[in-house]
Amino acid sequence: LARLRVEDIQAWVGEVHLSDRKGQTPYYIPVLNQVNPEIFALQIHCLEGEILSWGDETLTFPLMSVIKPFLLLYLLTHLGEDAVFRRVGKQASSYPFNSLTQLQEDRGFPRNPLINSGAIALADLLAGETPESRCENLLLWLNEMGNCQLFLDRSVLESVHSSPNVHNQSLSLELEKNGYISHRYLALETYNRICCLSGKIADLANLGKLILASSFADIVLEIMTNCGLYEASEKFAIEVGFPTKSGVSGALLSIVPQQGAIACYSPLLNEQGNSILGLNLLTYISHFVK
Ligand code: GLN
Repeated sequence: LARLRVEDIQAWVGEVHLSDRKGQTPYYIPVLNQVNPEIFALQIHCLEGEILSWGDETLTFPLMSVIKPFLLLYLLTHLGEDAVFRRVGKQASSYPFNSLTQLQEDRGFPRNPLINSGAIALADLLAGETPESRCENLLLWLNEMGNCQLFLDRSVLESVHSSPNVHNQSLSLELEKNGYISHRYLALETYNRICCLSGKIADLANLGKLILASSFADIVLEIMTNCGLYEASEKFAIEVGFPTKSGVSGALLSIVPQQGAIACYSPLLNEQGNSILGLNLLTYISHFVK
C-alpha cells in the first residue's frame, strides 16, 4: 500500500458516487434487502499504522460470510489443521455459495470453508453446548485478539429466522447424512448467529490485520484467494490478486500481504453475491499496488 496515495482513492470515491448504481440486495434477509443502497464505508489500514477512511465510519453492518475466514482461523488456532481439514477441503468451488449440487457432487464433503456447507461443517466444531455459547466464544476471541467491538445484531438474526433458508437446511441435512456434522440444528443455528456478528468498518479492517498477524496467515490467505468470492474467485485472483472475502451484506475484506487490509461496505451485490462497488475499488487499487 506504500504506493497508494490518498488522492488516488479520493479520485475513485469522487467518481463512483456519480456512476450508475446496479446490483441487488439479498431478497431472503429482509433487513438487508431494505437497506439504503447508497450507504458506503471504506477504511484502509496499513501495517505501519496509517489509517485512511472514507464514507460513514459509524455505520454498523453484519459480516455475513466475511465471518467464515475467522471461523476457520479460530478453529485452526484452537484445534489445529488436521481436525479442521478432516471436515472441510481447500478446493475452489464452481457453483454458488449455497449450492447443494456442489456438496452432492463432492459426496457430502464440503469443498472449502468459505462456502455455506464448509462454514456450517466448521460451526459444528466450535466449543459450546448451545448456538449462543458457541457464537459468544468466537465473538469474545475476535474482540480480544483483533481489537474489535463486534456484537451480535439481534435484528439481523431475527430477520434471518423470519424466512426459512431452505438451501442451508438442505446443506446441513446432506452434511449430517454423510457424517460431516454431528448436530445439524446446533451447527446451522451457530452458523446463522455467527453470520450476524456485526461491527463498524474499522472492526472489519482490524479483523484483516488479525489474519496477517496469525501463524496461520498463509493457509487462510491462500483459501481466501481461491475461494473467497465463490465462483468468481479465480477470475478475480488473476485480475486483482488480493485474498478477499465477501458477504451478502455488502461487506468486503481484502488483504494485501505484508502491507495491510482494505475494508469496504457497499450493499449492492452482483450475481455471485459480491459487493459491486467493493470489487470495483479493489480492481482500481490493484493498479497501484502491483
Ligand atoms: N447467512 C448468509 C447465508 O447463509 C451468508 C451468505 C453470504 O454472505 N454469502 O446465506
